[in-house]
Amino acid sequence: MKKHNIPLSVNAGLFIIPFLMLVITVFGVGSFMIDAARTYHYAHMKDDALNMARSFARGLSKAAEGHKALDGSEIHSLLEELQDSCPVERIHLINSDLTIIHSTDENLTGRTVTDRNATEALSKRSEHTYMTAIDGERRHVVFVPISMGNTSFGTLAVENSVRETEIVIRRSSTFGVLALLTVFVSLSCTMAVAYNRGARLVRLAYYDEATGLPNTRYMKNFLTKEITTARSGSGAVLLISCEDFRTVSMVFGFEHSDLLRKNLGYTLRGYENGTRTLFRLSSDRFVFFMKNYRDEHELISFAKEIGGISGRPFTVKGTEQHIDIRIGIVKLEGKHESIDRLLKAAMVSLNSVKNGLEKFAVFNEEMENRLLRDDQIENELRAELSGFDSQSLYLEYQPVVNGRTNDTAGFEALVRMRSGRLGQIPPVEFIDVAERRQLIVPLGMWVLRKACEFVRSLNARGRSGVTVAVNISGLQLLRDDFIPAVLELIETTGIDGSSLEFEITESILLENYDHINRKLNELRDHGIRIALDDFGTGYSSLSRLSELNIDTVKIDKFFIDHIRQKERTAIITGTIISIAHQLGLSVVAEGVEIERQRTYLVHEGCDFLQGFLFSKPLSEMNAVSYLETGSIETRASGIPN
Ligand code: C2E
Ligand code: CA
Ligand code: CA
Repeated sequence: MKKHNIPLSVNAGLFIIPFLMLVITVFGVGSFMIDAARTYHYAHMKDDALNMARSFARGLSKAAEGHKALDGSEIHSLLEELQDSCPVERIHLINSDLTIIHSTDENLTGRTVTDRNATEALSKRSEHTYMTAIDGERRHVVFVPISMGNTSFGTLAVENSVRETEIVIRRSSTFGVLALLTVFVSLSCTMAVAYNRGARLVRLAYYDEATGLPNTRYMKNFLTKEITTARSGSGAVLLISCEDFRTVSMVFGFEHSDLLRKNLGYTLRGYENGTRTLFRLSSDRFVFFMKNYRDEHELISFAKEIGGISGRPFTVKGTEQHIDIRIGIVKLEGKHESIDRLLKAAMVSLNSVKNGLEKFAVFNEEMENRLLRDDQIENELRAELSGFDSQSLYLEYQPVVNGRTNDTAGFEALVRMRSGRLGQIPPVEFIDVAERRQLIVPLGMWVLRKACEFVRSLNARGRSGVTVAVNISGLQLLRDDFIPAVLELIETTGIDGSSLEFEITESILLENYDHINRKLNELRDHGIRIALDDFGTGYSSLSRLSELNIDTVKIDKFFIDHIRQKERTAIITGTIISIAHQLGLSVVAEGVEIERQRTYLVHEGCDFLQGFLFSKPLSEMNAVSYLETGSIETRASGIPN
């Protein structure tokens, strides 16, 4: 399996440079301290020697003032006095013949100096300091010439063993270096901890925890580099989608589906090699980047190989699970100039995979056109939603009729888009674009504002009992600021929450059931009614209805259509109505087109009916006149029974 390197790793250089600087500092400061200590000590020794020489010269001149020359023993005692006054090891007086004429070490008296350095220093007849080894011991010697007037009296040599001094120097330097080392070690530890923490954060930021695969952020960095260097045929992206995780979550629980995801991730990793890199894009999507592929055949045969996983069962917690894999393929051809566009293209080709035999699709010109159209819709939507009033967006209102009385109970607000360049765009198309391109939240709020304004205008006409239903996308509901925004809108338009009904679909409940269900309750606390739209097309079961915080069930057109043919589905519709009633929910049948459907539904006790039989969606003006004058006979759509 391929090993992944951290892309923007915690730069080790960031840590190595200060580390090296610390090492250099420790050694530098250490040797500096030793040198400084030596200089200090030896300077002291030299000062002592000079003071002695001065005292010695003073002794000689005192004797000369008394016109008395000092004899040998007097000079010797003068030297001993000097030695007592200052702790030096030995003092000698050496004459111009290099003979030690007096010394505090009597054994040396009469000896001749032979050391080459010493003889050189003595011949110069100036103050001089040098180090020498005498009897195997390092010694520091200071020569000071003594003269009285013009008469030279020889050279005073003050000699000290440096053993003690060196021990002191070494001890103090060792202490200093140890202190520095302590600082160094603790700093190194802090840096190591910081490095590890940084590396862990990078792992968290760039890798998916569940599968250990590089995540979307990593992939974006990686692909951005590939795009900038892309040549035709240099690389391709294979977007792999597995739609089954949701169902598995529903049936077996999240833990189960998570294990299945891990299994799939692990299996896919088996297909990595030097030219194929795998990323985890989202909970049910993976991306393979294939570098330097030969031709489209190679891409397709790889896609088929991966598609083959669909046929093999995965064993999760003892149960066998089959998963359905689909693959959208995009070649890097220079026209996908951004990562965003590349992924959009991959998504378009993935969406174009039909339920046929082939589980993959290669991005082509037709898809390119689709993508371009999506881009145009997106741009127009963005422009429309950024201004206060929109030119191409507007709402239509489809009447909802009371099944028993035929009175208009309310309307469903349906958004429309009439583009200057693209003409009338079906809501399923532009809503899908809005959902994929992060525009559904502003679009949804725009619809809600218009719907609230419609309610306000109805109230002004004395029609306060009419409910307006608004379709709410799951993405809107997931947002934390959704409920506050709704409440603010209700307040600013001055309408009652009970005039609104929110239609939600089951898909949003799948992954965020508890969270969404709590939100629904909060909305109901403010009087807003909740309807479950398209009931019967999703995964919700009748038993689940009792746990949901809803008021209404909207039976999907699919069931209503089948009433026409008196199929078994018609019986199911009756059962749905009856169970919903038992749970205290009201029922709306949507897509009622013919009288027979109406008769059946009314017979089964369906509370509300909506469909072309009563009215198509109407402009605001027509909706108001429908409310005031409408009747089934005058508004029937003309669709044949
Ligand atoms: P939906 O919520 O299920 O809306 C009902 C759809 O069925 C509407 O299509 C309506 O025109 C159509 N319809 C109503 N009665 C009949 C009938 O008797 N026969 C037939 N054949 N169709 C009928 P429309 O307006 O094209 O909307 C399609 C979908 O777009 C809606 O389905 C809804 O999911 C979505 N949509 C519309 N407006 C909004 C909106 O403001 N926000 C959101 N999030 N989605 C919206
Ligand atoms: Ca609806
Ligand atoms: Ca519906």
